[in-house]
Amino acid sequence: MHWSRAMIVATPGRASLTEKVEALLGNRVAAVFDRAQVHVPERTAASARRMCEDAQADVIIALGGGSAIGVGKAVALVSDIPIVAVPTTYGGSEMTPIWGMTTDGVKETGRDGRVMPRVVIYDPDLTLSLPPRVTACSGLNAMAHCVEALYASNVSPRIAESALEGLKSLASSLVRLAAAPDDREQRREAMHGAMLAGYALGNAQMALHHKLCHALGGAFDLPHADTHAVLLPYTTAYNRDAATEAMRAAAKALGVEDTPTELLSIAVTIDAPKSLRELGMKDTDLEKATSVAMEKQYPNPAELTHDKIRVLLDAAYHGDTEYITHFT
Ligand code: NAD
Repeated sequence: MHWSRAMIVATPGRASLTEKVEALLGNRVAAVFDRAQVHVPERTAASARRMCEDAQADVIIALGGGSAIGVGKAVALVSDIPIVAVPTTYGGSEMTPIWGMTTDGVKETGRDGRVMPRVVIYDPDLTLSLPPRVTACSGLNAMAHCVEALYASNVSPRIAESALEGLKSLASSLVRLAAAPDDREQRREAMHGAMLAGYALGNAQMALHHKLCHALGGAFDLPHADTHAVLLPYTTAYNRDAATEAMRAAAKALGVEDTPTELLSIAVTIDAPKSLRELGMKDTDLEKATSVAMEKQYPNPAELTHDKIRVLLDAAYHGDTEYITHFT
């Protein structure tokens, strides 16, 4: 890959990393876009695209989590410029051809080979500075990729293998990192899990869990990874009886009897947020959230009905864990 004019994309919080990369690349940095935002608002994408064009950049270096990589993808989608991704969370976007953008409260996603990073540089040390909450929530986001890949309508043996190994790596490392965030070996393990989870996400068709998180993120501006962290045990419980083979495989990888209960237990242990209410959603939003989630139909192991999704969202809103733990 030949390039001479890089555009660095990062979130505002990654200034020190951005400066380090600028110092390394010197005058080969043509532009720095340091205003990446979660859910890629259409306005943010537009100004990043303008900056890229003005700077005549020929490579995008995305430094950070899914927000920085997401804005880099929004630029690549219209310019066909290659992305070099340097992930610093466990979200997994660097391994997928999936882009997302939010316009007027609606988050649209799509798949396009142009946004698939050409080069990914994994350095687990870059995640040592992650706040515990971002470690926990982006890690659970990655676990959600693994769980949904296992019951995907197009799951293959290769995808399942990655998803199960990713699930195992993430489950053990996240719990250990909650107690010892500076443990480099566990940071490496978590990043390994995130890479496998990203591979699973990039190759499998996601279902209820991801659709719900995108709908809620776009409509109510909820924090992306935190929403995944709250919903994962609930959406997995929703699909428990309809995706028995996937649940059994996941439980075996985790060394437990029941997958949704174990996901809840991990979330509690790593101090992930517990309810949608805690994330700032209002109970008056629940009906709209249900309707938004039902707008598009997509393959999902359990039947999707307005009433059943409303019950799920009510439980997740209140953090009512009986929804997860009461099963026969
Ligand atoms: P993020 O990129 O929004 O980062 C969360 C916060 O952590 C930010 O404030 C960021 O500045 C900070 N941060 C990141 N790395 C840090 C580090 N090493 N040390 C200290 N602080 C750090 O979080 P995310 O969960 O990775 O990304 C969420 C976004 O990614 C959403 O928009 C979501 O839709 C998208 N996403 C896309 C895909 C895909 O395949 N397209 C996959 C996963 C997530």
